[in-house]
Amino acid sequence: MNSLDLSRQQLQGSQFLSERRVGNVIDGASRLPLSGRWLPVTDPATEVVVAEAPDSNAADVEVAVASAQRAFESAAWRGLRPADREKLLFKLSELIERHADELSALETLQSGKLQGIARMIDVGSGAEFVRYMAGWATKLEGQTLDNSIPIPGPQWVTYTRREPVGVVGAIVPWNFPLAIALWKVAPALAAGCTVVLKPSEDTPLTALRLAHLAIEAGIPEGVLNVVCGRGATAGAALIAHPGVRKLSFTGSTAVGKVVGHAAVDNMARFTLELGGKSPAIVMEDADPSHVAQGIAMGIFFHQGQVCTASSRLFVHRSLYRRVLDELAGIAQGMKIGSGFDAASQFGPLTSKVHFDRVTNYIESAKAEGATLVTGGGRALEAGCFVQPTIFADTTPHMRVVREEVFGPVLAAAPFDDIEEAIAAANDSPYGLAASLWTNNLSHANRIVPRLQAGMVWVNAHNVLDAGLPLGGMKQSGTGRDLGRAAVESFTEVKSVCMAV
Ligand code: NDP
Repeated sequence: MNSLDLSRQQLQGSQFLSERRVGNVIDGASRLPLSGRWLPVTDPATEVVVAEAPDSNAADVEVAVASAQRAFESAAWRGLRPADREKLLFKLSELIERHADELSALETLQSGKLQGIARMIDVGSGAEFVRYMAGWATKLEGQTLDNSIPIPGPQWVTYTRREPVGVVGAIVPWNFPLAIALWKVAPALAAGCTVVLKPSEDTPLTALRLAHLAIEAGIPEGVLNVVCGRGATAGAALIAHPGVRKLSFTGSTAVGKVVGHAAVDNMARFTLELGGKSPAIVMEDADPSHVAQGIAMGIFFHQGQVCTASSRLFVHRSLYRRVLDELAGIAQGMKIGSGFDAASQFGPLTSKVHFDRVTNYIESAKAEGATLVTGGGRALEAGCFVQPTIFADTTPHMRVVREEVFGPVLAAAPFDDIEEAIAAANDSPYGLAASLWTNNLSHANRIVPRLQAGMVWVNAHNVLDAGLPLGGMKQSGTGRDLGRAAVESFTEVKSVCMAV
């Protein structure tokens, strides 16, 4: 049975894809695009078009922002008791879990990801994250402050309150379409904001389904709107809209800068979760087998299409060969196949465009003289499958070391002295994540503060928690998703000074 048959089986009973064309969700209802144009949604395992979603233009975005503005101004959402917003978000998380089969099938169909990953991350962690953020609806707080106002006469009462920032424009990429959409939508809604969400044109289906589930949960119309389309048209119109008071973006650094500039033009608030080139440093006291398992998870999980992927590996020379041999064994043993096949451990890349991009990086590494340890080519005859690939003896100037591949390509190099490894790890324009592999507590505590990264793992890689802020230093962005920092970023602090 091929992936399309398997997905049909799993989507049985769902009306969502009964029509080939799936409209935007604006003001609580499905809308055909005013542009009159549609974009194909393709299954990357078969390269077959499985649906069409709107190729929205500025007029579509205008309608969506107007809907979100009305919902914000009507106080139908922000005027609710926080406990009622919390309850509705809990209801949404229940619906996400109840529709786990359907949502994970849609996710695999549009992005090729393994069903296990779709269920665990996009649906499972996504639903948990909504509950985590629902809890914040009742816990946002200001401060009362003692003051030293020198004006005699009245008594002065001073305090701060947190208020929802307004309409949020959320723009998300194709690697974890549902999970990252929820990273934006859940805290925005918990804070009392309303949202216009633009998914990637490659992966719009779960965002649209989410908007329908929000309506079913009882979240008022206009609170969550989804406008599909290309970044250069729908995305550009959304970031330039003066009615949008906060932009929350996850994607490449290049586009993130465009979003940041547009935000400043309107003085909108912005959070940018951008690219990474995350290093892993393996010290001589680490356990090589444990390291190999962890680094394989760090670089091959979801075919390396993870912003925090452990794409640069620095291993103490005494363990270098051993770690590389074990990693190569893991890479060669991975079962490659459709995300719908329960036996698959490694699926396709999300699109043909991305397949070509990753292949190009692999060829550049070969041309620049890196040693190919394993992989280095197409994995299956049809579909966007690339082999898990390891390059050894890479040097700092190589493109595969400097630039984000966003695929299953590891660049490894040995080191002799830890100062050399720390300098190499920090020698990157990016600063999203890093990992350190050691059993020496003193080394761990001394080195963690010196790594230029928003997230540092010790003896692990790619482990997230709803409560732990995620975001980057340097060119990896500004602001944080997840945790308290995320929900507070959807609020304005208002200071109140009262003469009594
Ligand atoms: P892009 O930056 O190309 O796209 C991200 C989103 O922005 C998409 O929805 C895209 O739409 C949209 N977009 C593109 N151009 C514009 C524009 N001019 N104005 C407004 N929106 C626009 O990134 P990818 O989708 O290729 O995602 C991969 C990147 O995301 C990697 O660099 C990765 O590191 C980063 N990422 C970061 C994460 C983090 O937490 N830091 C997490 C996951 C990914 P469309 O796709 O339709 O063009």
